[in-house]
Amino acid sequence: MLNKEEITKAQQKAGRMIRNAGIKISDKKIKEIEIADFGLSDLSNEGGQIFTFVNTDRIGAKVIALFPNQTLPEHWHPPIANDPGKEEVIRLIDGGVRAYIPGKDNLNYGFIPKDKDECYSCRHELVMSEGDQIVLEPGIKHWFQAGTDGAVLYSFSTTVRDIRDSFTDPKIDRITKIKK
Ligand code: ZN
Repeated sequence: MLNKEEITKAQQKAGRMIRNAGIKISDKKIKEIEIADFGLSDLSNEGGQIFTFVNTDRIGAKVIALFPNQTLPEHWHPPIANDPGKEEVIRLIDGGVRAYIPGKDNLNYGFIPKDKDECYSCRHELVMSEGDQIVLEPGIKHWFQAGTDGAVLYSFSTTVRDIRDSFTDPKIDRITKIKK
């Protein structure tokens, strides 16, 4: 759970990072940045800040800001009815990020969040530089971790149904709860 002050602080920080990446965002829109702590109440270690440009029944586009060394938890986008699941392109705009997908364990630059070994099964590390992008096919598990400067990423995808995403960590709740 996060309180309103923590949410506002995280929105302002993410807004500054997004602007530093050269992406225009109004003060009003900064207040709409989604702060996702995945119900873990440990935002600076595990979480993400998400600014949605558009989400229709068919396409989605957003910016994800990750704070320095912040990890976006391992998840996948499962099939729903006739839809095979979200297909997603992640492009690094600013900073540094590591992407983890199934494959040979070559984890070298990143780290598994403390005491979370069983929540991060993908250990195949792709170190991304600014301008790099990867395509994540539907259903493929993945997680991300920012470097010491944080990261600003574009996510272009088929329609986004975050609430239907599946996570390896059984403690995760996709909806951020705000303390009154
Ligand atoms: Zn994803």
